[in-house]
Amino acid sequence: MQLIQTDNHFDYIITGTGCAGLSLLLHILQEPNLRDKSILLIDNSLKEKNDKTWCFWEKEIGFLENLVHHFWEELIFHTDTETLTLDIAPFKYKMIRSIDLYNYAKSRSLKKSKIKWLQADVTAVGNENGLAFAKANNITYYGQYVFNSIVFEQEQKAFELDTCYKLLQHFKGWVIETKEPLFDNKKATFMDFRVDQKDGCAFVYVLPLSPTKALVEYTFFNKELIPQEKYDDLLKQYLKNQLGINEYSILETEYGVIPMTNHRFKKQEGNVINMGTAAGWTKGSSGFTFQFIQKNTYLITESLVHNKFPQIKTRFFEKRFNLFDSTLLNVLYNNRMTGKDIFQQLFSKQKATSILRFLDNNSSIKEDIKIMSSVPLSIFLSAALNELFNAVKKKVNILFFDICSLVSEYKIQLQSIIH
Ligand SMILES: Cc1cc2nc3c(=O)[nH]c(=O)nc-3n(C[C@H](O)[C@H](O)[C@H](O)COP(=O)(O)OP(=O)(O)OC[C@H]3O[C@@H](n4cnc5c(N)ncnc54)[C@H](O)[C@@H]3O)c2cc1C
Repeated sequence: MQLIQTDNHFDYIITGTGCAGLSLLLHILQEPNLRDKSILLIDNSLKEKNDKTWCFWEKEIGFLENLVHHFWEELIFHTDTETLTLDIAPFKYKMIRSIDLYNYAKSRSLKKSKIKWLQADVTAVGNENGLAFAKANNITYYGQYVFNSIVFEQEQKAFELDTCYKLLQHFKGWVIETKEPLFDNKKATFMDFRVDQKDGCAFVYVLPLSPTKALVEYTFFNKELIPQEKYDDLLKQYLKNQLGINEYSILETEYGVIPMTNHRFKKQEGNVINMGTAAGWTKGSSGFTFQFIQKNTYLITESLVHNKFPQIKTRFFEKRFNLFDSTLLNVLYNNRMTGKDIFQQLFSKQKATSILRFLDNNSSIKEDIKIMSSVPLSIFLSAALNELFNAVKKKVNILFFDICSLVSEYKIQLQSIIH
């Protein structure tokens, strides 16, 4: 469908200009066929602050390689009983600061007259007369598609009402600077479990950016958030007791909460295509999202280039990762085994690269079997069977609901014909 550009009509509308929205924009700008499309981007924030630091692993030169702030080729894993140096080659563990993505996307679109940015609250997205729409500032904007990464109240409610697992990955981090050179900026601590586990799975990661600078982040996988002062105390204790650092200045602070869940977020409704966290692209068992956003926004762009409907479908064999995620969530949620023990068994028995591929939903069946054989079968098998049963039960419920709706719809139609 060719749209005629008027003030409130665009080819595409992107609601939410965070990681997913801007990754999609950059992919679209890369494509000669799509470069001239008119695009409206709406966000209630001006995106002028570094509000997130994204870390991920990648083998090749990535699409956003020019934005990589730092990378590490060696990762360290600590528990009370062992320290492992993880060989991750050919992967590199990379870091991108969100402000660099925001600024880069703005600068790439600055000279494009057909790209408009609007700072406003998006109050609704939907479909009308074959077009998608987004409402902001009491104006309705139309486009062939709305690519949405905002979690609206309705979806939030559906999430809260769902009987899915709702664990939280919550963390606070400081970029600290020391006077003396204390860090090896070629090695990053991926997980340090030498911290108190009484409030659930807790670990720290240390990402050195220079010999005197590092991002140190205290992370929990559990059910409840904690007061900000508690993270501060824990960070201070960790720096003092584990790293022996007493004198430092805090240059930046990062705080975040990522849902760890097996809730099925709505992927699409008509021509409104959800993306990012709003589409459930966050891996339920780890919170990693960045690389799924990169992969899926690339696939959406490919569909647009080939004039296909831009929907992300999970391939049949990939669906097994949903079961693995639910199983791990089941084990953690029900305290069947501690996160510390699970990760220790995995990293001490398996190649780090296999685990990274597993976390990327990219491992082979052989790797999956090896990984599963590293954890106690009795715990994980019973959790997996539990999850399979729940999934079937949910499917049957949905089917039953669909049949009931269909029957009542037929009844209404029949009654109207008879009358
Ligand atoms: C602090 C933090 C650190 C993270 N680190 C990592 C990491 O290292 N690796 C990893 O893989 N994942 C990480 N994640 C998870 C995930 O990658 C990020 O949350 C990522 O930003 C998700 O992208 P998104 O586009 O879905 O959401 P966002 O980037 O949050 O974008 C959503 C946008 O919608 C806007 N918005 C919301 N409501 C409205 C509204 N009503 N009207 C208008 N605009 C609205 C927001 O301002 C925001 O810009 C992190 C998450 C957090 C919170």
